[in-house]
Amino acid sequence: MLFLIKQLIAEKSKRISSFDDLTKRADKRFRLLLKYVFTNSVFYRDLYSKHGITIKDIYNIKIDDLPFTSKEILMKNFDAVSCDPLINRKDIDSYVKSTADYMGWYKDKYKIIKTSGSTNNYGVFIYSKREWDILRVITVNMASNFNVNPFKKVKLASLVDTRGLHAGASLMSDIPKLFFDILVIDIYESQKFINEKLNKFQPDLMSGYVHGVCMCAFEQMEGRLNINPKEITTSGELLTDEARNTIATTFNCRLINMYAASESICIATSSPNCQNLHIAYDWNLLEVVDEFGTKITNGNSGNAVLTNLYNYSFPLIRYKMNDMISLHYNSCPNCDAVYPVIKIFDGRKEEILTFTRSDGSEESLYYSFINFFDEPNIKAYRIIQKEPNFLEIQLVLLNKMQTDEIIYLLDDRFRNLFLSKKLDNVVSYNFAIVDEIEKNEFGGKFARIITFDNYKKQRTILFG
Ligand SMILES: [Zn+2]
Repeated sequence: MLFLIKQLIAEKSKRISSFDDLTKRADKRFRLLLKYVFTNSVFYRDLYSKHGITIKDIYNIKIDDLPFTSKEILMKNFDAVSCDPLINRKDIDSYVKSTADYMGWYKDKYKIIKTSGSTNNYGVFIYSKREWDILRVITVNMASNFNVNPFKKVKLASLVDTRGLHAGASLMSDIPKLFFDILVIDIYESQKFINEKLNKFQPDLMSGYVHGVCMCAFEQMEGRLNINPKEITTSGELLTDEARNTIATTFNCRLINMYAASESICIATSSPNCQNLHIAYDWNLLEVVDEFGTKITNGNSGNAVLTNLYNYSFPLIRYKMNDMISLHYNSCPNCDAVYPVIKIFDGRKEEILTFTRSDGSEESLYYSFINFFDEPNIKAYRIIQKEPNFLEIQLVLLNKMQTDEIIYLLDDRFRNLFLSKKLDNVVSYNFAIVDEIEKNEFGGKFARIITFDNYKKQRTILFG
């Protein structure tokens, strides 16, 4: 805690005077990290050696000359990435399976963050206590415009997915208690429950996924929610102009958007006077590359590549993200921030399923329930809303001998989900074991969720 306060004060008081100053700071941290992985990570040492890079090169090498990594590569070589034997796939997998405590620490040393996705692209990312502190400092500094004051705590309500070890819940529950009074609400609760909690708490600051905050804006317009936050922070999904306008006009407050990922929880944020996403570049080196891996410097869009400069526990260097971005590689052109600016294109967009109860009230499911499918036996899956209140859940299994076990498990998860959303008497579903997931022309060829609207369009094409 003491470290954090010192760090907060230091961060607040130091001024990064120019883009040049910022890149120098980032470059110094980058070389320190390279030196560290060369001497401590078997994975990186081998990877770089194979590319003819030696320890002597680390002071001069350009980032462009380093090979890429990705979630797939790091998950495959998991045990060799870190120098700490505690960070091994076997123990961490069993930790992830056995705990739902997003506030907990693995072996009292590390914060484990899990990403959504099926077995093939499922990932865990690891932060030591010190790295977690740095992250909190970056987040508080970049994402909040409130001046921290231990004598008057800021009331912060956070709408997150608490079911699983996800970044949002872990971080939000861990914002310094000295400065913030925090209410964490599970996005899976019914909207009525969320409204009641928020009405009672009356947050100064609210944070959540774009979709969850938009739902709250709708509730506020309808008069069921009555809160008056001074600032709202959104993250996790693309903030469209429409969503931005809805939130901003309904709550009439500052709106801060954040580009966050499990790989680095606060990569870039907008500010109260500028809607651009400013990269915390002194801690997150971001590059954009085309499909051939060539760096794009002219502002065109491409694949985001991240080098996390503060994580030594599980280092991410030239790590390909799944996001399409464009990068303005200089200070923000629209405000006085020295940070470079990114634009995000399709983010991690998933379709949102919406259901209607018999009394006409609607309820949406935030898409992160796709984590339910993080099971070793599930190779692929798709959820199709074949009727407004009926889902077909298609599964491709690696081992069909265990079909009953998987269906039992998923049925339990979906039943609980619909129960907590008060949709248990509304929505029904079936499981279908299939050999492969067919391509779909609507909602993306490989979309994991097909809404009723998209399903109807597809049927029209096929059957006229
Ligand atoms: Zn700006």
